Order: sequence, then structure tokens, then C-alpha cells
Amino acid sequence: MEYPIAGACQCGEVTYQLNAAPLMVVACHCKECQKLSTSAFSITAVVKAKDVEFQGQMQKWQRKADSGNINGAMFCPTCGNRLYHFNPEEPDIIKLKPSNLSDTRLIQPTAHVWVSEKQDWFSLPADVPVYERQP
Ligand SMILES: [Zn+2]
Ligand SMILES: [Zn+2]
Repeated sequence: MEYPIAGACQCGEVTYQLNAAPLMVVACHCKECQKLSTSAFSITAVVKAKDVEFQGQMQKWQRKADSGNINGAMFCPTCGNRLYHFNPEEPDIIKLKPSNLSDTRLIQPTAHVWVSEKQDWFSLPADVPVYERQP
């Protein structure tokens, strides 16, 4: 992979550059992620905050996760596309929603989590670690 890789929300008002490879890529099958992705699971690229640069106005929403952590979410106020999640207590880490990158080859999960809530029709790959809940 060649970095930087450009990303943009669906309408293009928020853009970003990812300057380095993610630390890991996680597919989460929990019910909250099914809602947010409007799909069977969400994909998150865990990146260092210093490795990504955003341009454009974003709006914030947050909720408390089962763990008690605050799960902050940044999204485009115009098209609603989710850009990233974060925990305010871990400001060095950004949980990027990488489906809006211009080159999506890096979106290969290195782990599947919350498979206890996954859709029955989805078959887990044999060569990737899977976790019943949050590891
Ligand atoms: Zn947008
Ligand atoms: Zn989840």
C-alpha cells in the first residue's frame, strides 16, 4: 500500500488523508455496529491520531458503551456519513471508518469481534482471530 490515501464522506464536504498503515482492522458484529453501518457488521481501522488529517466540518454524537467507555462518533452533517469513532480518554487513537477511502484494499479485517451477535448467514473466515464479544 502507498500512503497517503485520500478519503471523503459521501457528499465530499469532509475529506481526509491517511498517512500510515492502520494498527489493526476490526470487523465488529455487535447490534450497535449493525445499526451504524446499516449492514451486517462495521469495519474499523484503528489508526494513530497523528497519522490522519481531516478537512471540513464534522458533527459529534456520543453514547456510553457496555464497557462504560464513552464512544464518540464524528459524522458529516450534510450526508450523515460516519467518519470515525473515538474514546475521549484515548486521544492518541482514532477508530476510522475506512469504507470511504479512495483505495479500500486495506479493509481486510485482522479480527472479528462480537461474533455472538453476528448474522447467521455470515460465515467467519478460518484464517482470522474471532472473539465472542469484545476481547
Ligand atoms: Zn458528507
Ligand atoms: Zn460493534
